Amino acid sequence: MDGRPISTPGLSSDEAAARLETHGPNLLKRESGDPLWRILGRQFTGPMVVLLAAATALSAALGAMADAVAIATILTLNGLVGFAQEYHAQRAVLALRAMTAPRARVVRDGHPIEIPAAAVVPGDLLLLEAGDVVAADGCLLEANNLSTIEAALTGESAAVDKHVGSVIADPERDEVYAGTAVATGIGLTLVRGTGMDTELGKIAHLLQTARHDATPLQQRLAKVNRTLLWICIGIVAVVAALGVLHGEPWMDVLLGSVSLAVAAVPEGLPAVVTVALAIGVRRMAKRNVLVRKLSAVETLGSATVVCTDKTGTLTTGKMTVREIWSADTARLLYIAAACNDADLTGPTGDPTEIALLHAARATGVERPDIEHHNPRAAVNPFDSDRKRMSIQRADGKLYVKGAVDLLLPLCVAGAEGAASANARMAALGLRVLAMAEGASGDEAGLTLVGLAGLADPPRLDAIEAVAVARKAGLITVMITGDHPVTAHAIAREMGILRDGDDPAERVHARATPEQKLQIVRAWKQRGAVVAMTGDGVNDAPALREAHIGIAMGRSGTEVTREAADMVLADDNFSSIIDAIHEGRAIFDNIRKTLVYLLAGNAGELMVMLGASIAGLPLPLLPLQLLWVNLVTDGLPALALVMDPAVPDLLLEQPRPPQQPMLGRAEWLRIAAGGVLQAVTCLSVFVVVLQSEGVLRARTLAFATLVFGELFRAFTARSAQRGIWEVGLFTNRTLVAVVLCSTALQIAIHQTPAIRQRFGVGPLSLQDVATAMAVGAIPMALVETAKWLRRRR
Ligand code: ATP
Repeated sequence: MDGRPISTPGLSSDEAAARLETHGPNLLKRESGDPLWRILGRQFTGPMVVLLAAATALSAALGAMADAVAIATILTLNGLVGFAQEYHAQRAVLALRAMTAPRARVVRDGHPIEIPAAAVVPGDLLLLEAGDVVAADGCLLEANNLSTIEAALTGESAAVDKHVGSVIADPERDEVYAGTAVATGIGLTLVRGTGMDTELGKIAHLLQTARHDATPLQQRLAKVNRTLLWICIGIVAVVAALGVLHGEPWMDVLLGSVSLAVAAVPEGLPAVVTVALAIGVRRMAKRNVLVRKLSAVETLGSATVVCTDKTGTLTTGKMTVREIWSADTARLLYIAAACNDADLTGPTGDPTEIALLHAARATGVERPDIEHHNPRAAVNPFDSDRKRMSIQRADGKLYVKGAVDLLLPLCVAGAEGAASANARMAALGLRVLAMAEGASGDEAGLTLVGLAGLADPPRLDAIEAVAVARKAGLITVMITGDHPVTAHAIAREMGILRDGDDPAERVHARATPEQKLQIVRAWKQRGAVVAMTGDGVNDAPALREAHIGIAMGRSGTEVTREAADMVLADDNFSSIIDAIHEGRAIFDNIRKTLVYLLAGNAGELMVMLGASIAGLPLPLLPLQLLWVNLVTDGLPALALVMDPAVPDLLLEQPRPPQQPMLGRAEWLRIAAGGVLQAVTCLSVFVVVLQSEGVLRARTLAFATLVFGELFRAFTARSAQRGIWEVGLFTNRTLVAVVLCSTALQIAIHQTPAIRQRFGVGPLSLQDVATAMAVGAIPMALVETAKWLRRRR
């Protein structure tokens, strides 16, 4: 602590391992995901499944045992596939949770090390600093300016001051508790209880409310699903009534109704969103964005404003001292090292302070020497409100450094010319710090010794990302604690501020964490969807207020990570834009998959309705429809949902969050796709029915429909671009799935036992060719329409 060597060696790693064995991991018995049986159960509970189960029972009751068994088999298979998908999705989310799991710093074998908080054991020496979430209960051995927020335990959000040695007067001041947040200062605590043996553990059952709620998109889709169900029940009822009125036999009416119900219900729908979100989470992780809340994946796609920190996110955070303005450079560098908490071994600490230590080292000044010869007596730590810090040392002097404009008013000497030197350096984009010294303990009556200008070069990929964001209709807002002149210089360099932009809107300098909150609120009031980054403890409220709170994985504190929806593993601005890209892709993929599936269902429905109105026999049997929906439509749908993010998505404006999943354009495409499928399938049925009878007619109609759906999957990938433009092999899964479905379809026809179940006959090579040729017509027409539209 305080850079001093730690006098207590802490536990040895062997002892720690032994204790971990005895006491168990430092974890609350929180949900570790849903148990397997519950995931499995969920696959068989939806209204669709109930409907289909009813259909199965009905078929069985009517004596169509083969149908009943086959439908039940397909239902079970579908349930198992859903189970596998959800299980994988849950595993992916849990793995990510482990990656973003809290960490703790403890002293082991005499050295401070960082370990997963779960590995903390009783007897450990736990190091605390502002921004940490306390990993275990313990009693304080050292505390400096330490205060914690115990809201997790008491609900009280004001920080509680902590002192060492107040055991008798006020024992609770001497203790820190797991789950509370360190608001200020630093401390060293001896761990007494971990896991369920903490105060937090005692009330853990109160915290087990962290159920995973359905995301807005999942809720909206559930609604669409319910609507479809009612529409479907309505249609079935009407058709059944018509049949009875026409005096058809009961048996036929019932079979017809079951077929219709099966045709209309998009059985593959619920899996689509689950899979899309899980894939999104995984892809974002590859792009260094760890998702903590699933709903953020969706919200990201409609973000319109990205508020970001400067240091380390837009810039490299690798600072160097570029310029010194001082009459006594040696003294200035001494102060820079004396008022400093960084450590050049590693190096560890604040980049600003590391840069200053490097500059000091160049002239032979080393902080460990200072700590040795002139130890510290008191520390008034840096915080982003005061924008300065001071350290009092044994020589009785107070060493101060901080933002120039905030420090100058405290200086009584040496300040002439400093303001203009500051302005000149800031205009170059340098972060300028003033160094001063004083005699008394409080930061007043100081003597200014000089200024140091630090350069923090922009990240090149961030400059690129800012430009991409602009094209994507996103406003990038830079929030920095730096001087306005510095901030504007850097904003210009990065392209955040261009001619015509309102500087007051895009750059916030000398910002405090409270102002961050106000900035989020102001944008929200203007209807923006705001993503906000943060790293400090005080940023947590702003992150919570933002639609998407983004914490820094490297420089961020535990508290901000807990408040955030996602964590940037590399602290890099360009990763945010990547994630927004993925977010848009997920939405787009879900949408096009829905259009594909629903158009398929609409087509089947029209086939069945058309035949029933024309008084024809059933063109497709329930089992065939189920097969189409679950296998030959369902599998391509799952591949469609995996479509890679295309660059085009970043050329569009953000999607208004209230925009429905399926707008007019989508419903039109669903209707058009459905009509085309129905017309081709019914035509084949009618033509063959007249010449070759119902079995052959069904055989060819079934094959035509399936091949048509498989072709249509490629068209569905883009509403504007042609199949070749999108690139046939940019989604290899889709190609594989389509080939596989084609093989399965042919297998059904060629295996006598199976084709009997399905109520179809074999296919000759010529039949296959015919079915494929006719099945390709809808695709060809849609592609032509796209091509004509593009030419216009
Ligand atoms: P950014 O928003 O660019 O990421 P920030 O908001 O983290 O930066 P702070 O670190 O709060 O900015 O710094 C604000 C100002 O405080 C700086 O311009 C500098 O003048 C001063 N400052 C920064 N670090 C220190 C420090 N370690 N000691 C003293 N003063 C500092």
